[in-house]
Amino acid sequence: MRKINVFDTTLRDGEQSAGVNLNFQEKLEIAKQLERLGVDIIEAGFPASSQGDFASVQAIARTVKGSSITGLARSLERDIETTWEALKDSAEPRIHVFIATSPIHMQYKLKMTPEQVIENAVAAVKLAKKTFPQVQWSAEDASRSDLPFLAKIIQAVIDAGATVINLPDTVGYTTPYEIGQMFGYVSENVSNIDRAILSTHNHDDLGMAVANSLAAIQNGAGQVECTVNGIGERAGNASLEEIAVALNIRQDHYKADTGLVLKEIKRTSSLVSKLTGMVVPNNKAVVGANAFAHESGIHQDGVLKNKETYEIITPELVGVSSNRMVLGKHSGRHAFKEKLMELGFNGTEEQLQKTFVAFKDLADKKKDITEDDLFALMTEATVGSSVAHYELETLQVNYGTTNIPTATITMKLPTGETVQEAATGSGSVEAIYNTLERVIDEEVLLTNYRIQSTTAGRDSLAEVYVTVKYDGTESSGRGTAHDVLEASAKAYINAVNRTINRKQFNEQRTNPLNV
Ligand SMILES: [Zn+2]
Repeated sequence: MRKINVFDTTLRDGEQSAGVNLNFQEKLEIAKQLERLGVDIIEAGFPASSQGDFASVQAIARTVKGSSITGLARSLERDIETTWEALKDSAEPRIHVFIATSPIHMQYKLKMTPEQVIENAVAAVKLAKKTFPQVQWSAEDASRSDLPFLAKIIQAVIDAGATVINLPDTVGYTTPYEIGQMFGYVSENVSNIDRAILSTHNHDDLGMAVANSLAAIQNGAGQVECTVNGIGERAGNASLEEIAVALNIRQDHYKADTGLVLKEIKRTSSLVSKLTGMVVPNNKAVVGANAFAHESGIHQDGVLKNKETYEIITPELVGVSSNRMVLGKHSGRHAFKEKLMELGFNGTEEQLQKTFVAFKDLADKKKDITEDDLFALMTEATVGSSVAHYELETLQVNYGTTNIPTATITMKLPTGETVQEAATGSGSVEAIYNTLERVIDEEVLLTNYRIQSTTAGRDSLAEVYVTVKYDGTESSGRGTAHDVLEASAKAYINAVNRTINRKQFNEQRTNPLNV
């Protein structure tokens, strides 16, 4: 069985998804979960892009020791040096340096001749190799590059010290057949290729990212780049869980495996979905809510007689449990703590206490507390509340089919003082948002609003996701509460708080890159 290294770029390429902005603590939580999943390499960010990105890459490099941590860098001295500063404390420092190799990118974007591009790439790899034991070099837009040129530049960067060669389909243009040809060509025409691992990185613009990744693996790629839930620029990246499970289920065909801890897949997917606010479609392969639901009577009958009649993947393989009732109203703090540990909680004692109080409050209103409930409370307490500048104290809404909805809100301001405001709207949520805008005293534009329930049943928790434009930037926020209106208010306040936080820590992306 060939071992395929998994290079996860959820925190770099995935974080570039429109409307996604993870803060420092959220990135760290995701990195720790990727480590638990057994990911070989975590691309934690682009350190030279901002102080915020630098700080989170550095924190991940210092905390996560079970995976190799990497950062993206342009072929510039400053980028390479900054990346080393961010990564030097990691277990296996690794840089991901790139330059475009397609005619259209070289001519119009870089305004360089092919010879200049080779010189530049070789110089960057040589510089990186002075400090980094592992140097990954990427040919941006490889799938639209000239094959003999690609072979020539790869030969040169391997001689300069590159240990991984990544050939991305940056724009999601290639097909399984073509990508197989490209990997086959490079394997046959680069004489020193045995000194490097070939890597594949695919985008889903034509819906072929996973198929292309698997074709590349069949044709010599020993590393696959992907994101959890397939999030990323435009239509997204190849989805980690689909590749890992396809290789596992079809070992007979691919004769390759990732070695990931597959039963961590569901939890990883849920965490990334909650923290990014990017919902997983019900019909999504492997992690969608319906991925294991047999609806047809004939299928159900078959599965009851013998599961293998219609079930090729078991829910247990990827850690999908039956979401059973786990705790009740009378569960004590000890049982609660134990359950949270099982779910991967690693917050502080204070956060544990906060989650416990929220749990007790929920248990008064909801009969069965499930794993999904605990997961929602835990996420809210550990990462959701870490950025409070504005805090909701009380909320009252007056609604009737014949009245004008009115909201009255008491809020704690960043200055520490408490204010009360009221406003009307054409609906309850609008009345709340109009009131909050008065408190904040600046224009806050709502660009997206989405609501979902944590579990089934009318006593479920409500989760609201919003995107707002405030203070010149777009920011997402989320709120969980037992009531939909309270969750709506919390999500809006969370988005505003996150905007302020990002400004303070300079987490703003100055120059997102797409490789
Ligand atoms: Zn990409």
